Parts: sequence; structure tokens; C-alpha cells
Amino acid sequence: MAEAYPWQDSLWQQLAGRAQHAHAYLLHGPMGIGKRALAERLMARLLCQRPEGLDACGQCKSCMLLKAGSHPDNYILEPEEADKAIKVDQVRDLVSFVVQTAQLGGRKVVLIEPVESMNINASNALLKSLEEPSGDTVLLLVSHQTSRLLPTIKSRCVQQACPLPSEAMSLQWLAKALPDCAEEERIELLTLAAGSPLAAVKLQGQGVREQRALVVEGVKKLLKQQQSPTQLAEEWKSIPMLQLFDWFCDWSSLILRYQLTQDEEGLGLADMRKVVQYLAQKTAQEKVLNIQDWILAQRQKVMSKANLNPALLLEALLVQWVSLPAQK
Ligand SMILES: [Zn+2]
Repeated sequence: MAEAYPWQDSLWQQLAGRAQHAHAYLLHGPMGIGKRALAERLMARLLCQRPEGLDACGQCKSCMLLKAGSHPDNYILEPEEADKAIKVDQVRDLVSFVVQTAQLGGRKVVLIEPVESMNINASNALLKSLEEPSGDTVLLLVSHQTSRLLPTIKSRCVQQACPLPSEAMSLQWLAKALPDCAEEERIELLTLAAGSPLAAVKLQGQGVREQRALVVEGVKKLLKQQQSPTQLAEEWKSIPMLQLFDWFCDWSSLILRYQLTQDEEGLGLADMRKVVQYLAQKTAQEKVLNIQDWILAQRQKVMSKANLNPALLLEALLVQWVSLPAQK
């Protein structure tokens, strides 16, 4: 059965407790908070032949088939490869599933994630199924970024926002999920994950705290001229490029913020506070703005998986970074 997260309790009661179900739901909110699990839980509930209370029974024929991954009346549509688009042919297959009769005589349930990975042709093909509901089919659309959806898709769904849990609730949950971390480390992970508890667990698994420590130490040595951009680019080559660009982007924002507000509360995580403050004092604002523009533009290229030479790009970033405090 899909995992039930404590921050989804009231959301779940609202959704599962509806007397009548909508033809299509759009579950949207930030990444890493369990929207997919929520959709899977609702899928099981909608397909279950003997629901108990708000949840699926876990024992009927439908629940057993779903567990085995061989339920004839559910359909999961997602990119064939991670981070790639959902293709129009995939949506066409879905559309022919939607017009069939349910084989177990109950509902059919479709789960699409992430909806924004459909291009315009795929989206238009899906619109037909949203416009002409077929029998007792329920579509569950999961989106991390509704701004990228066609307005016509959004308007045909019951929209259900899935908010970020409060910090207190996330930390309480993380205490159980990451019992070997200290409280301070869990706070750091949650910050690095922009408040998403599931993303925090994933980051811990990827060794992000160790990577961050390595990068922070490197940046300090770079500014003291103890290590060169070339050496650091070599040392950091196992760290995901996007992660590096996110950190530098974050630091440039913090420098600007401090230049504008002089607010010591807004210096970010403890490991870089002194460096951020130092660079804010020593660098002309225009230079910070320039490097931030450059970082954002390169980050976009990294995201689009353009053909880049990572070592050269990283070196270019570090050469600019080390020259920030040169003269004011
Ligand atoms: Zn059941």
C-alpha cells in the first residue's frame, strides 16, 4: 500500500471522504512531499471493492491485483525515461484505455506524473479524455509545476493543492526517517531540500552533506588562493553539476540580500555565513549581479542537458568567483 504521510492527514480525509468523486483531480505542489504516494493511495481506494473507512481494504481481488502490478483497470502514465517527455503515442494508448469498459466492473483509474512533462501535442491528446469523460474513469494528475500546464488542462480538473509541511512536522517525521542523524544535521538537510522532507531523505542518501562540506571547504581555500579553480573542478567532478550551480546561485542571492539589507539573520546556512558576509562587503553589487546572471544562464543549460564540458564550465565559474572580492 502507498505510504501515508502525517502531513497529508487532513488532505486525505478531504479527498477520500468525498461522497462523489470528480472525473479528474490535479494534485499539485512542490517536489518531495509525497504527492505520488497520495495519488497511489487514492487510486487504491477508488479501485478497492470493499473499502474500509477511508482506505482500501488491502485484501479484495482489486487490492491484490494492484499490489501485484497487474490490475486491468488502472493505468500509470509517466515518461519512459526519467526527466524525459511523455510522448504523444503514450497518451494515445492511454486514450484507448479510457474508452474501454472496466474489466472488474468497478472504476478505472489513471495516474499521470508529472503532467508537465507532456508536450503540447501530448497535452492536446489528453484533453479529449478530460473533455469526454468515459464511464466511471477517474484521472489523477500529479504536477510539481502547474505554471507549465495548459490552462485548458487545469480548468478541467478539480485542483487540489498539496502544501509543504510545516518545518516542525517535517523535522518530527525526519527524526524517525533518519534516526542516525543529529537534529542539527536534519535541519541542515531540510534546508538544503528547500523544506521537502522526502527530498531531504533522498539528499542524505546521496551524501549531500559530505559533498557540501567538500565544496564549502574548497570555496574557502579558493578565496585564500590555496587552491586553484582547475584543482577544485577536478576535486568536485563527482558532484552533480546542477547541485553545484544551485549552491552558487543561492550564495550569490545571499550576498545581494546582505548588501541590500545588512540583515545577519538572512545569511543562510552556518557553513557559509562568514564567506557570504565577507564577499558582500568586498564586492561591488554590479559584479554580484553579473555573476548571478551568468550562473542562472549556465544553470539553464545544465538543466536542458546541453552538450557541455563540465570541468571547463566549473572552472569558468570559479575563475569569476575568485575575482569577486578583487576591488570595490
Ligand atoms: Zn480492497
